[in-house]
Amino acid sequence: MLNVLTIFGTRPEAIKLAPVIKELQKASGICSKVAVTGQHRQMLDQVLDLFQIKPDVDLNIMLHNQSLFQITNRSLTGLEKLFDQERPDLVLVQGDTTTCFAAALSAFYCQIPVGHVEAGLRTENKYNPFPEEMNRRLTTVLSDLHFAPTDLAKENLIQCGVPEKKIFVTGNTIVDALQNILEQPIHDAHPVLERIPHNSRIILVEAHRRENLGNPMENICQALDKLVENFPDLHLIFSVHKNPKVREVVYRKLQNKERIFLIEPVDYPTLIHLQSKAYLILTDSGGIQEEAPSLGKPVLVMRKTTERPEGVKAGVAKLVGTNAKSVFLETARLLKDKKLYNKMSRIANPYGDGKASKRIVQIIQHHFKRKKEK
Ligand code: UDP
Repeated sequence: MLNVLTIFGTRPEAIKLAPVIKELQKASGICSKVAVTGQHRQMLDQVLDLFQIKPDVDLNIMLHNQSLFQITNRSLTGLEKLFDQERPDLVLVQGDTTTCFAAALSAFYCQIPVGHVEAGLRTENKYNPFPEEMNRRLTTVLSDLHFAPTDLAKENLIQCGVPEKKIFVTGNTIVDALQNILEQPIHDAHPVLERIPHNSRIILVEAHRRENLGNPMENICQALDKLVENFPDLHLIFSVHKNPKVREVVYRKLQNKERIFLIEPVDYPTLIHLQSKAYLILTDSGGIQEEAPSLGKPVLVMRKTTERPEGVKAGVAKLVGTNAKSVFLETARLLKDKKLYNKMSRIANPYGDGKASKRIVQIIQHHFKRKKEK
């Protein structure tokens, strides 16, 4: 039996690893175990419940207002103990979180091979996104199997000196997760939708990145306020992240404003349903940038840079920065210009075809079979 231990800690990792875990569970010759750090407790648990994943180990490291030092420290300490008991043949990590980096480093200390799902995303800006750009670069150097979602991600890995034979272009597993949800019967609609007249336009907002905390978040909120003031048919739904630094600004600037609805983070199918009801999406989230094109929704990315230029290249996403003026002007332009809107609301799928998880598991099986034969 090949023992594969999948380690993650946050909502986006759980969403993107859930289809891989399902495939690992079905695969012959593989014993799959799951360990979570609990870096984002509540938002992680929502996804575990949804996909009915019961972690074998839960390190439960989360603290209120936790620093990067605390997350890294507590993950490493927990994982050291875990690796004392478990000696997996492969550790699987995903993306760019601090959990991902800490798990790859812990596996390296124990000389256990690492497989990195969603490898090769880059902005080439050390501090943007922070700390994710560095987390994924460090994870790359610690990994043995690199599952790149796109050809561009593969190119980035080659640029970093990763041997081509260790890179596999699989598509992004988020498309697998999204397709799984779209196949299910329609989920109960969020109650906020009942408060919005049918003929109005909805903007769905989600913003939480660490580099957008403070001033950029203030600017974003200012732009949102002005948008609602200027477009009387506009209703805004903002899923407010659990990070207290996000909540403080968003509630202070936007609470009790007419046509602005601040909601708690919702479960994944509800967020997909809200995306499908939106006229357009304003976000700094990586996952939403990948989902919206599959749903035919234009995305305005409130960041200075993106490691997902594929959507921008396909013409379905646009970088609008984080200053109040540019967020307002770019959104207003899209709201006024129907031709531009139609151009951006095509269904496109630059990130995957829904079969990434199957490919990843087949590659793992093949790799370890060959290793055994050698
Ligand atoms: N998401 C969700 N509920 C919400 C907001 C987002 O399920 O209220 C999902 C979203 O659809 C996407 C993922 O969370 O799949 C993105 O996670 P996040 O924005 O936290 O991280 P990022 O993708 O930026 O790393």
